[in-house]
Amino acid sequence: MSTIQEAKKALKKYFGYSSFRPNQEDVIASILDKKDTLVIMPTGGGKSVCYQVPALVLDGLTLVISPLIALMQDQVQALQANGVNAAFLNSSLGIDGEREVAKQLVNKELKLLYVSPEKLLTHSFLTFIQQLEISLVAVDEAHCISSWGHDFRPEYTQLKVLKSWLNNVPVVALTATADKVTRKDICEQLQLREPNVFLSSFDRPNLSLNVRPAKNRMQVILRYLEGRKEQSGIIYCLSRKTTESLAEKLQGFGYDALAYHAGMSSSDRSEVQTAFLRDDVRIICATIAFGMGIDKSNVRWVIHYNVPKNIESYYQEIGRGGRDGLPSDTLLFYSFSDISILRGFVEESGQKELQLAKLERMQQFAESLTCRRKILLSYFNETLTENCGNCDVCLNPPQEFDGTVIAQKALSAVARTNESVGVSMLIDVLRGSRNQEIIKKGFDKIKTHGAGADIGFLDWQNFIVQLMHQGLVEIAYDDHHYLKLTPLAKEVLFGREQVRLVSLHNILQKRKEEKKIAPLSKSKSERLEEGIFSALIKLRKRFAEDTWLSPDQIFSDTTLKQIVKVKPTSEWEMNQISGMSEAKFEAYGKAFLETTVEEMVNFYQDENNMKGATYILTLDLLQKGKTVDEIARERNLKALTVYSHIATLIQRGHTISIDEYINTEELEKIFEAIEFTGENKMLNPIFDYLEEKVEYHKIRLGLGVWNWQQKLKRNA
Ligand code: ADP
Ligand code: ZN
Repeated sequence: MSTIQEAKKALKKYFGYSSFRPNQEDVIASILDKKDTLVIMPTGGGKSVCYQVPALVLDGLTLVISPLIALMQDQVQALQANGVNAAFLNSSLGIDGEREVAKQLVNKELKLLYVSPEKLLTHSFLTFIQQLEISLVAVDEAHCISSWGHDFRPEYTQLKVLKSWLNNVPVVALTATADKVTRKDICEQLQLREPNVFLSSFDRPNLSLNVRPAKNRMQVILRYLEGRKEQSGIIYCLSRKTTESLAEKLQGFGYDALAYHAGMSSSDRSEVQTAFLRDDVRIICATIAFGMGIDKSNVRWVIHYNVPKNIESYYQEIGRGGRDGLPSDTLLFYSFSDISILRGFVEESGQKELQLAKLERMQQFAESLTCRRKILLSYFNETLTENCGNCDVCLNPPQEFDGTVIAQKALSAVARTNESVGVSMLIDVLRGSRNQEIIKKGFDKIKTHGAGADIGFLDWQNFIVQLMHQGLVEIAYDDHHYLKLTPLAKEVLFGREQVRLVSLHNILQKRKEEKKIAPLSKSKSERLEEGIFSALIKLRKRFAEDTWLSPDQIFSDTTLKQIVKVKPTSEWEMNQISGMSEAKFEAYGKAFLETTVEEMVNFYQDENNMKGATYILTLDLLQKGKTVDEIARERNLKALTVYSHIATLIQRGHTISIDEYINTEELEKIFEAIEFTGENKMLNPIFDYLEEKVEYHKIRLGLGVWNWQQKLKRNA
């Protein structure tokens, strides 16, 4: 029986991570328990680990069903780079390739096999896999099975047969689509038996959310891109023409930018995509055709040059930023003319009413002065009680007032009309109108009729939108767009929660203000870190050029940032970095370590930077064969300082021989003193305990060795 402990070991060994994210551990426990499992996690939440780690600890093979050929290939490459035996089967593989994979399967050499549904469902393949030991089936992008989802693929519906065909093998289905109908559909279609369902929060706190008027877009973009030269980003545009003209303009200003849209040939498109993945081009100006199936974790910013058609699309598109969890920025340009254009499109589409309503929500989001993350999460039926602090509204908050009473009036009117009115009618009731419809339905008799007569129609409209954005009411698109109360609304009605509102006047006032960007000044340590980071990026790019891997398959930005933060100087420290799997350490660890140390040495050799962690210079000289006295002379330091550098180095995992400075007996005595006094930093208590007979520099070294041994014990 495989345990979660084994899973944790595999996580460190093959992925270099020391702990699971909250839901990952529960999901993996469920899978190892042989339960059917449904996982709903936002993009970047870490779905892959949920089935890849079980695949590594279970006996036999894990089949992964995935709809996108490009994505399959990326995942297999990433696994191989971590030393995992994985392969894929799809129409892109020739007959020889297929034969090779079949041979590996028969010889039980593979832990994971990625396969497209078309391939899987051929009779010959189904028969073939029946002879294999299959311990788990993972269905990735599982929403493709549902005609309710936004990406229905008919071939997915035939996956029904899997469960019975493979003798009730446990199935894990994964998706980033949260809506309830799709969820239910997935469970039914895949015939999951009493599945454990894990729904993660859709919050992506590392994405900053910004909206600004579309005035002077080009100038704003150029300013935005200053200082982002080494970052990858996407600019979404409404039309193919805009993608091309924008890319051209940016090229004119010296940026690597390319256009991407569905009108290009598929080979052109895949070329652009590859260039982006490999960091050969940094900026893609694209229509919505770009993104699906692009496995790039370090997209640092996403700009919407035009307004997206609904909040789902917007959230999915900005969601392509920051999948590695590092801070990433998003910027939406809002213009009324975009809304009119989109409205024109919608008029011609099916589901016109629903699409219009969704467009209206998008518009309200852009115009709102409520924390933007609150609005997004309330749209996905989650509540965020505190403001996020990472959106333009939070950073530049409007003037609010206590709107609890106003909110109570509106919410109570919703309740008393039995949740059977839309926004306009609700306002009519609140303002005490006696129009025909109100009289007919008897709404003129309810207690809240006229309770808000002192507030104008437009003001009411503004407040109700804010209530919606704060998750107090929702619009039932499937029930005449009537307003419905949420559980949070009851809290407000019973006076247990307060509501803050912004007046229409203040909103209009605020929109007139221009937002300013604060100037930056950099500290010394920031400059050091930037230097290391940019050297590591270059090194990564060089490795990528020699292999099939993309730069972020070699190391993610998160891993590079960790290196920059920790500044490892020994192999041991490098091995502790998050994302450093055994295979990656073997292949790249030393080179990244050397570059890091080199950058630090160069930085500290600059005379202006002499203060700080200069033990690194001592290391440099030790490696050149200098003695302590020579180093002290050369660096103009006391010998004791050089000894303390050596102690630090030992403590950080360097193997440095100290036999000529201290003998075993003295070392034992110092250890005894440390144990006795409980002191592992200060020299004096130990010096006193040893009756002033052991010199300070020896105590320093002894402390280094002792602390290092403790570190090893903690890590065992
Ligand atoms: P999804 O498929 O849900 O979009 P991924 O599986 O691509 O997400 O994971 C997103 C990023 O998070 C990847 O860079 C992945 O390596 C990283 N990641 C996943 N699990 C962990 C973990 N337990 N600790 C640290 N990083 C993780
Ligand atoms: Zn906010």
